[in-house]
Amino acid sequence: MSAISRQPSSIVLFGPPGAGKGTQAGKISQLTGKPQVSTGDMLREAVKHNTSLGKEAKEYMEAGLLVPDSIIIDLISERMKESDASGGVLFDGFPRTIAQAEELSLIANVSLVIMIQVPDEDIVERIVGRRMDPETGEIYHINFNPAPAHIESRLIQRKDDTEDTVRSRLNAYHEQTKPLSEWYGIFSDKTTMSIITVDGSGTIEQVAKAIESELGGL
Ligand code: ADP
Ligand code: ADP
Repeated sequence: MSAISRQPSSIVLFGPPGAGKGTQAGKISQLTGKPQVSTGDMLREAVKHNTSLGKEAKEYMEAGLLVPDSIIIDLISERMKESDASGGVLFDGFPRTIAQAEELSLIANVSLVIMIQVPDEDIVERIVGRRMDPETGEIYHINFNPAPAHIESRLIQRKDDTEDTVRSRLNAYHEQTKPLSEWYGIFSDKTTMSIITVDGSGTIEQVAKAIESELGGL
């Protein structure tokens, strides 16, 4: 793990919507020293501030569709110019298409892909019950990770966290994102990049431990 943190290389956190990427990212960031770069968070910020990029992305996000590659690639290219990205970053929710991964390979050195696997049956319940604290960005779940009572009233539910939209997002995952796991498999055979696969269906603590132990074994 210390070897990872010393290299100017990046990590990709990969998995379906609701897999627990955002939940686990903080811990992985701490362990590796890499700042979390979440395209979902960046897009939500752009929508909130009504920027031209936000206006363009909004309708895709609300429909549960992927935002076009060109928008995402521009967003990431700009983010990678910031000084905190010089030692590599932890990508959360990016890349989500083979085209994005190909572009990424031109601008960053990905040394590790962490794949969190969760069956579709669990995804809807996780997403529909997800709540976010707008003050801290902390992610909670009404059953699996309840927020402390004193902050409950300020929690928000994402607009795209409805049952209908989750179905479209899962569809987008299977059609456009899942094929990327195979692409990375082939890529890792040709390079020194590692892939670790983690069962994401346990509790949040169990998944965190599994990731930590896999990182320790690298
Ligand atoms: P992603 O970033 O992959 O979309 P999140 O980290 O936001 O996923 O998690 C989705 C929802 O599931 C959140 O409400 C979170 O609290 C909950 N969650 C995350 N990991 C687990 C887990 N291992 N078991 C049960 N619920 C989880
Ligand atoms: P989750 O992992 O819970 O599905 P995110 O917060 O990562 O959610 O993404 C929310 C939405 O933002 C996606 O449904 C999609 O519309 C858009 N989005 C985020 N990252 C990407 C990406 N890399 N490529 C295309 N669209 C993206």
